[in-house]
Amino acid sequence: MIKLPDTITDKALRRIAAKVYEGTPVNKADAGLLLTTNSILDLGRISSYVRTRLHGYAAYYGVSINLNFTNICTLRCPLCAFSRDEGQEGAYLLQLADIERKVKKAAAAGVDEVHIVGGLNPALKLDYFEEMLRRIKKISPDIFITAFTAVEIDYFAKNEGISVEKTLGRLIAAGLGAMPGGGAEIFSPRVRQAIAPLKIPGSRWLEIMRLAHKTGLKTNATMLYNHLETKSDIIDHLSRLRDLQEETQGFKTFVPLPFHGENTGIKARRAGSTGYDDIRIYSASRIFLHNIPHIKALWMYLGERMAQVLLRFGVDDFSGTYGGEKVVHAAGAGTADHGTEAFLKDLITNAGFRPVRTTAAYGARVARGRQKAGL
Ligand code: SF4
Repeated sequence: MIKLPDTITDKALRRIAAKVYEGTPVNKADAGLLLTTNSILDLGRISSYVRTRLHGYAAYYGVSINLNFTNICTLRCPLCAFSRDEGQEGAYLLQLADIERKVKKAAAAGVDEVHIVGGLNPALKLDYFEEMLRRIKKISPDIFITAFTAVEIDYFAKNEGISVEKTLGRLIAAGLGAMPGGGAEIFSPRVRQAIAPLKIPGSRWLEIMRLAHKTGLKTNATMLYNHLETKSDIIDHLSRLRDLQEETQGFKTFVPLPFHGENTGIKARRAGSTGYDDIRIYSASRIFLHNIPHIKALWMYLGERMAQVLLRFGVDDFSGTYGGEKVVHAAGAGTADHGTEAFLKDLITNAGFRPVRTTAAYGARVARGRQKAGL
């Protein structure tokens, strides 16, 4: 029988803590409580327990750039401030030579990873993306490429008239290392209809991820919150991810994303998420998603101060330097669009954690970090 710390005083949370300490998955009713409690210090004790059991005091970060190759998108989701129609003012498409130039510059500056997502642009066929990945790998075979959301993969396959498996196979052969978790938004059909009516349904997003995991690709999963969703929608979203993870073990990281509504077609209940909301969402995610190894805080979405605080509420991945991020900044994020490695390391050590530089593969550097932490 594991003894719970006396410092967890909230009665209902002690009951949930008992399950967590015994290694029993919490249920949906428990998630509801975690998402509404005001006892955030107790919440932090439980989510920190899970976090340190998995990762000690290591806090991962990446030295990376973002490549948003085009903002021309056929879907024009109401939630999106980034996309444009073809020919509209501000619409752009990066040529492969532009991408090559950017990556060469980043590689010379010591970047480990390139993160690539963009709009659904019918002019771009699969060979454009294959060539993009090949050219990046030619610049530096060691650069890790995380690219293309499930929404993009579904679109590429349809646009090319081939299967998702074949699409993934060709991209992997060209250098794809992992997939980001974007496009999940919130799975609830009712909310999805309002925020992204033309985007693939949540069930299809999960299906694409299932296929990706079957090919051996590891992926992230995201959840967009603080727009029109309810607590039940959040619990449903987390449950579906947890169920798929039971089946595939292909999700490496879960990334909750607070919605930024500026320049979008969505009027969220609140202009920005509250600090308590962020803490509840991240802690509940860490505790509920016991089978997903990493919880990532994107400091560009949350602000670096909140992201730093969340290291005590379940977060072990502090995201990356992300030079050139465009998507959340189009929606009014007030953070810088680039952070230096020193900036990230300082925030992590200042919170009492040990910075571990890694990529989305959580590779050799991570293993060394864990060894030092005695895990
Ligand atoms: S969210 Fe993605 S799919 Fe929707 S309009 Fe923006 S770029 Fe296109």
